[in-house]
Amino acid sequence: MPSKDITDLKIGVLGGGQLGRMMIQSAISYNLDISILDPDENAPCAHLVKDFTVGKLTDDQVVYEWGKDFDLITIEIENVSVSALQKLQKDGVSVFPQPEIIELIQDKRKQKTFYKANRISTSNFVLTEGAADVAKNKEMLPAVNKLGTEGYDGRGVQMIRTEADLGKAFDKPGLLEELVDFEKELSVVVARNQRGEIDCFPVVELSYHPEQNLVEFLFAPAQISAESEKKAYDLAKDVIEKLDMVGLLAVEMFLTKDGEVLINEVAPRTHNSGHHTIEANRTSQFEQHLRAILNMPLGSTELISPAAMVNLLGEDGFTGNALYEGMEACMAMKGVYVHLYGKKLTKPFRKMGHVTITDDSVESLKKNARTVKETLKVKA
Ligand code: ADP
Repeated sequence: MPSKDITDLKIGVLGGGQLGRMMIQSAISYNLDISILDPDENAPCAHLVKDFTVGKLTDDQVVYEWGKDFDLITIEIENVSVSALQKLQKDGVSVFPQPEIIELIQDKRKQKTFYKANRISTSNFVLTEGAADVAKNKEMLPAVNKLGTEGYDGRGVQMIRTEADLGKAFDKPGLLEELVDFEKELSVVVARNQRGEIDCFPVVELSYHPEQNLVEFLFAPAQISAESEKKAYDLAKDVIEKLDMVGLLAVEMFLTKDGEVLINEVAPRTHNSGHHTIEANRTSQFEQHLRAILNMPLGSTELISPAAMVNLLGEDGFTGNALYEGMEACMAMKGVYVHLYGKKLTKPFRKMGHVTITDDSVESLKKNARTVKETLKVKA
């Protein structure tokens, strides 16, 4: 990192979606100079920075040419040109998270192989080259079949419960994992700066919508034993250390019914499971990411108030210019914070915003989270 004042650094962010948008909100407080590259001229960040470039994030030439001007480059999405980032790094640009980590995480096969090689607890799996390979592993059923690349938000994941399901198996390189009989899904957002300081945000628990495979509710802190909590922190710290990563890492985990904590997957960036930290913690995940990549002291991750988070998804059956129904009723509720991502067009289940709910009582949190979910709707 060049020895400049942080306000003099030119910082480039690959991706201009909602994560970039919330990163900009934090960057303003420190007067940081942020530029964005995104393929969509109407992306959520489009009008928020003076230097917004339209270009394909996976195009080596586009990313390299764009990136040459910066002191520091980071990401808000991992589907970017790794070879361009490697070249930029060689030219002296700081890139965090490091390109080789982005490359590892782009492919679930490489990710799982890394966990196994580094003795990080994860469900058993086999690598498969196509549907015929999946069918050769009948003894593993019921199992979860995942595409190596191209999958996100549950789209590259399928349950293969019985032999009858084998016919629908993806026919591309992937992996077949043992189905984990989990008690809860947990997430720990952990940060590490170049000095090697590591700090975890409190463990959160997530419940996924059964059909959409997207987070339906998040609760912080997770209602788990102190022992499980310690296992979750130890796992998150172990992974970021073994990756030797600088930046923010979201570690998704399963708490099994017999009290084991297994890693599912990680994201080397700010994450949906850390959105509540904007209001509920002393430091938000967006600020923490900036602190980590700028090699500044990490902020306190302490929870100020228990919180819930609800994703605001486009209502099924509505496509077109977004209209928000129930806004006034939500804004009248105590401790309810609405975040809209500025996406003009809604479509079924598109992430259009999120709502954080804070309350001292876990019971009221659950109740208010349900009320928000039933009240606030995105239609067209
Ligand atoms: P994505 O990268 O698309 O989010 P994940 O690998 O996180 O995909 O899987 C999506 C969801 O599928 C998980 O949150 C979990 O609910 C379920 N799932 C994934 N792997 C397993 C597994 N081995 N056992 C049980 N459920 C799983």
